[in-house]
Amino acid sequence: MKEGPGLKIQPLPPEMTAALPILNRLNAAGYPAYFVGGSVRDTLLKDPIHDVDIASGAYPQEVKDLFDRTVDTGIEHGTVMVLDHGSGYEITTFRTESTYTDFRRPDQVTFVRSLAEDLKRRDFTINALALQADGEVVDHFSGLADLKAGLIRAVGDAHQRFTEDALRMMRALRFSAQLDFEIEPQTKQALVDLAPNLEKIAVERIRVELEKLLLGPAAASALQDLLASGVVKHLPGDMAAWPASVWQQIIGDYSRGPITSPAAAWALLLAPTALNNGELDAFLRAFKLSRELMRSVLALVPALRDPDHLDTWHLYRLYAYRQPLLEALTAKGLAPDQFAAINQGLVQLPMTDRHQLAVSGRDLMQAELVSPGPQMGRVLDSVERAVVNGQVANQKEAIQQFIQEQVT
Ligand code: ATP
Ligand code: MG
Repeated sequence: MKEGPGLKIQPLPPEMTAALPILNRLNAAGYPAYFVGGSVRDTLLKDPIHDVDIASGAYPQEVKDLFDRTVDTGIEHGTVMVLDHGSGYEITTFRTESTYTDFRRPDQVTFVRSLAEDLKRRDFTINALALQADGEVVDHFSGLADLKAGLIRAVGDAHQRFTEDALRMMRALRFSAQLDFEIEPQTKQALVDLAPNLEKIAVERIRVELEKLLLGPAAASALQDLLASGVVKHLPGDMAAWPASVWQQIIGDYSRGPITSPAAAWALLLAPTALNNGELDAFLRAFKLSRELMRSVLALVPALRDPDHLDTWHLYRLYAYRQPLLEALTAKGLAPDQFAAINQGLVQLPMTDRHQLAVSGRDLMQAELVSPGPQMGRVLDSVERAVVNGQVANQKEAIQQFIQEQVT
């Protein structure tokens, strides 16, 4: 990577090339416009890019006047989506943010014409880079040098920036996990000093950042920073109460990562703890996980705690979560032969879902084997278990015979 002023990226990645007509149109109308944020950072790192964000000196109404098809996706923050050949591009007006009285949201957003003002309000130097249509990088805060050195550094005074918005502390930790970057010392000190402000941040926003941290390739060292900085004391779930030996286990498991599934990520965090079922449930509720994710984590934790007793019936119950299960067991360093046995057990299940049973309740009624009512549920349960355990073939006649033998 070339450093200093004049660095030009050529060619631009295809996602940006596709958006160039939009930048050009804004420029031709006399408005400055740049690619900004994560897509610029990730392009310079040669990482895949997600969404291409555009920032412009045009005010929202001016953007709407310039393009035929737009959607007001966040117009109060200055964001308008432009629809172009089936793609949507978010264009955000350059803005400043002022007087944060609650450590979370700016009281006022002011639209401005200058890119420099806009870059100043961004969180970290590596996120404060902009890219012109011709590929030239705009770097007012030495973000290129920090990208090269692998550093997460606040733009301007870290204490002030974390006082304005406490969520930035969680963002610092999650970018360090995602990019395998160190947090620069002054930024880290601000994390230590201002961690209590995280208690004012909505749980949902903390959860998003913590989950991205856990799914980052360098999650283990970010977890170490989370502990060492004291940030952990101000998060939901009372994780600071977990003994050091538990944290050692968690960090050890994460160092065998990376983890790609959210269910595996939360299960690996919780499996080494002594939390019982009710406490696990309360922990996941405190973080406001979705019902579906909670269900999968609650199924996975006992399996990770006791992988020696994953019999056929357990594997059947875990079948829907087999990918996170295998991923988490790998992170736990399960012995290869044990891992192979579990994998084999999953592949060889006679069926993987109750709907695959060769008979239905209605079949059994028609055959006058079982009458409707509570008995039906019990019979189907025992048939399901017998088929899964290989005692009965999953065939109509075999099952009917099994029921007759049971009843008589
Ligand atoms: P990702 O790849 O995870 O989307 P990103 O850098 O695009 O990473 P976003 O959360 O999408 O992160 O934010 C886009 C940009 O907006 C950031 O790069 C940063 O410049 C700015 N930004 C986002 N959140 C904040 C914040 N809390 N404080 C200051 N700037 C922020
Ligand atoms: Mg983004």
